[in-house]
Amino acid sequence: MVPKAQPFRIAVVGGGIGGLFATLAIHHHCSAAGVPVRIDVYEQAAQYKEIGAGVGLGVNAARLIHKLGFGDKLNAIAGHRTGVWITFRRFDNSEEVVTIPVNDNQTIRQAPCARSALLDLLKGTVEAREAATLHTKKSCRRVEDLGDAVRIHFEDSTTAEADIVIACDGIHSPIRNQFHVDKPIFSGTIAYRGVIPIPSPSSWPFSSYSVLWLAKHKHFLVFPISGNTELNIVAFVTKSPSETADVKESWTSVCDRKDVEEDYAGFDDVVQKVISLLPEQPSKWKITDREPLDCWQYMGGKVLLLGDAAHAMLPHLGAGAGQAIEDGWVLGRALSEHLSGSGNKHFASLASTAQLYQDVRLPRAQKTQKTSRMAGDTYEMQTEDMLNKTFEECIPIIAERTRERMKFVW
Ligand SMILES: Cc1cc2nc3c(=O)[nH]c(=O)nc-3n(C[C@H](O)[C@H](O)[C@H](O)COP(=O)(O)OP(=O)(O)OC[C@H]3O[C@@H](n4cnc5c(N)ncnc54)[C@H](O)[C@@H]3O)c2cc1C
Repeated sequence: MVPKAQPFRIAVVGGGIGGLFATLAIHHHCSAAGVPVRIDVYEQAAQYKEIGAGVGLGVNAARLIHKLGFGDKLNAIAGHRTGVWITFRRFDNSEEVVTIPVNDNQTIRQAPCARSALLDLLKGTVEAREAATLHTKKSCRRVEDLGDAVRIHFEDSTTAEADIVIACDGIHSPIRNQFHVDKPIFSGTIAYRGVIPIPSPSSWPFSSYSVLWLAKHKHFLVFPISGNTELNIVAFVTKSPSETADVKESWTSVCDRKDVEEDYAGFDDVVQKVISLLPEQPSKWKITDREPLDCWQYMGGKVLLLGDAAHAMLPHLGAGAGQAIEDGWVLGRALSEHLSGSGNKHFASLASTAQLYQDVRLPRAQKTQKTSRMAGDTYEMQTEDMLNKTFEECIPIIAERTRERMKFVW
């Protein structure tokens, strides 16, 4: 009797949006190719859990979720928008600066979700498909090259072995840090975040709940989530270093609602109403990213970076999770080609397969990373050419630069 092939062992470190989507994409592509794989997901937290905030998926990411066969469930947890990505408005009187339309009439459409609902959907799908074994309280410290495998060392002194390790462990990725010495970079901007019940249409003067108010050095963003029952709020302010010394980059860091009121004094009445509905202690974050990194794969392709571990970006295009999802799709496809022995020279070895994953994904992810910085500077009127211009002079420049910016992402 011919011995049954041992499944290829894949360790996914980090069970966030990137890690769970990658798990599903690898399972999908390898099942279709008839390749046996064993996937273990190692999450540091005690539960697979997301913060109480929203995340907007563009049509690029939504399309991949539909390709995996649970797009209907994605649409069910998202809010159905009304043909608008965001309408940009003046801070003082809410007059329109520019409105970015999108086609929301198709099945595959933008999907603004509660992060927790999206993570629950991914986790539930992993479980229903028996795509992986999900571990908790497994905080990876480092990986070790065993030649033909990788050993993962956890904080609790246990270890695990796999044929490849996919580092989906976020912006602070210990695995990335093992190979590359750099640190998250503080953008100078902080964000207040919160979720409130959606205001009634009679108290909302715009045709869309997706609105961004612009002012010098600050902008205030809202968009609907949870089937249009809740409004997600992310309010950005650029501060001096002395004002941000005590702010953390953590979802447990909070402030008094009074701080938000003070920062947005002078904003239009609709914004004041939204602020008044925030919890008494909204969260307050330092917004950080990483410098673009030119190598995403190590140990001959046995260790690969994915999502924020590879390309943490500022949130100003609302594209980071979508880029992580794209990584997972491409990696799943590449691994299935390699493992099924497709004969294509690009997939002949694990090293060449990992290189192909990087070659396909890196330029697009880095463009999104760099464009996210530019978008933030534009909204806050801090690009070099706007620094000495008045608010009134900046407004048409922002409209011009914003009109087409999202097209390459979608
Ligand atoms: C204010 C803000 C708004 C945003 N809005 C959007 C948006 O609208 N649309 C969008 O597409 N993106 C948005 N993003 C970006 C998006 O949140 C990230 O790009 C996305 O979450 C990255 O997913 P990830 O799985 O790579 O990393 P993460 O979401 O950070 O997940 C990493 C996971 O790894 C785990 N982990 C960490 N270290 C270890 C370890 N050592 N061992 C084991 N597990 C570990 C963590 O607990 C976590 O579960 C926003 C970001 C911010 C800050």
